[in-house]
Amino acid sequence: MSQKAKKEEVPSALEAKKEASKTQKVEKPKAEKKKREEKGVHALYKIESDKAMRLRPTCERCGPGYFMADHHDRYTCGHCGFTRYKRT
Ligand SMILES: [Zn+2]
Repeated sequence: MSQKAKKEEVPSALEAKKEASKTQKVEKPKAEKKKREEKGVHALYKIESDKAMRLRPTCERCGPGYFMADHHDRYTCGHCGFTRYKRT
């Protein structure tokens, strides 16, 4: 005499559907976008009094206008690949 376990009472499918559509309408609050690091030419200049100071060295090969990337121990030119090591 085996008796199967009593079926668990589950909410009717219809009820579940209703509930789902109800919750679907609620929009999730959008996650705040992380502020991107400032990049671009405006990050390369610093306006001091009425002058624009260059915050990066320019490439010796490519000439002024080509900024070099600031690495912790060197500057590199993304245009020609020129690397200049910082003096310590
Ligand atoms: Zn260069």
